[in-house]
Amino acid sequence: MKTPYYVIDQNELDENFQKLKLALETHWSNYIIGYSYKTNALPWVIRHFDRLGCYAEVVSEEEYRLAQKIGVEPDKLIYNGPIKTKETFLEAIRNGCVVNVDSHRELDWLDELPQEQRAVGIRVNFDIEKMCPGQSQCPEEGGRFGFCYENGEFARVVALLREKGVRIAGLHLHTSSKSRGLDIYRAIAQVACRLQREFRFKLDYIDVGGGFFGGLPTKPQFDEYMELMAGILTEEFDQRRTKLIIEPGMAVIGAPVQYVTTVIDVKDTQFSRFVVTDGSRTSIDPLMTKSSYFHTFQRQGSNPAVPKQIICGYTCMEHDRLFVAKDEPALQPGDQIIYHKVGAYTMCLTPLFIRYFPDVYVRRSGTLFNVREAWTPEDYLTKSILEE
Ligand SMILES: *Cc1c(COP(=O)(O)O)cnc(C)c1O
Repeated sequence: MKTPYYVIDQNELDENFQKLKLALETHWSNYIIGYSYKTNALPWVIRHFDRLGCYAEVVSEEEYRLAQKIGVEPDKLIYNGPIKTKETFLEAIRNGCVVNVDSHRELDWLDELPQEQRAVGIRVNFDIEKMCPGQSQCPEEGGRFGFCYENGEFARVVALLREKGVRIAGLHLHTSSKSRGLDIYRAIAQVACRLQREFRFKLDYIDVGGGFFGGLPTKPQFDEYMELMAGILTEEFDQRRTKLIIEPGMAVIGAPVQYVTTVIDVKDTQFSRFVVTDGSRTSIDPLMTKSSYFHTFQRQGSNPAVPKQIICGYTCMEHDRLFVAKDEPALQPGDQIIYHKVGAYTMCLTPLFIRYFPDVYVRRSGTLFNVREAWTPEDYLTKSILEE
């Protein structure tokens, strides 16, 4: 099969997903799982999560329309983020979607709905760094989403919504963190309880967002996250009345995806040995933030070890270097390097740079099915106008 390509291991994906469901059934059986489109919106992937019973968690007009196009039921969407368009915002509320407000203009748009249709959740901005020192993404400047609890903005929004006769149906507490640790979810559940005590809501749901680990044996397990949160939420909420919404992305699509590449050449210079492959760092680490990757080799033969081989990608950028193999058998053309756990924030962020989108296969019970053909120059040209 022609490399490079991604492989989605469906059996692994499904088994991991069942663990997530079991954890929810066990600890808070009244729940919704919203699959985070932005994490990987490959059409096969979003359809598969729809078939598994997930809602579509979308954060733009495009994602909202994409969900409708692939057949998601009109009310099985969770619409988040600060850049919703007015048309889709109002439509989503009319359709009975879960809609969490995250900007002032949305509060104004609510005036256009008849009184009985007015129901939204509120995205909460709170000081996660104070509760979990060293674990938040922006320790100095704080998070930028939601309405701030500490400066009184959240309370003003609650008062305004009540004045407008808008029912506050839920709280949205998604917080992306550096740690993805249990502390983050303890803090989220505590904030939900604190707000409930202070504002006496009648909530349909607590949406704790995504940001979990999943499918990694050395990291927190779904059961631990859910047990921890349920133990705290139960102080203020009744699981028969209030749903727990989670919005996983990475935790459900990160681990079961691999990226398969082939060595195409080996070159020595005065300084180093470079192993050129047909894959690219942009395909598994588009933001160029990681320094190591889970990987395995599939070798043609057994060569003696060499002290240092620098594994490189195809992009003709000097820093498209994936990793250094130290004291490993010499790689040769035809050997494969397979990267593991690369399903989140990869395919969807890969640029159309030098080469185009690669093939994607699904592996089910040992057989591979193509679910996205590699893009060709013809695909690249669609929508472009060569001469105006
Ligand atoms: C990105 C995002 C998610 C998913 O985050 P993961 O880290 O991929 O689990 C869920 N909800 C919201 C609102 C997001 O922005």
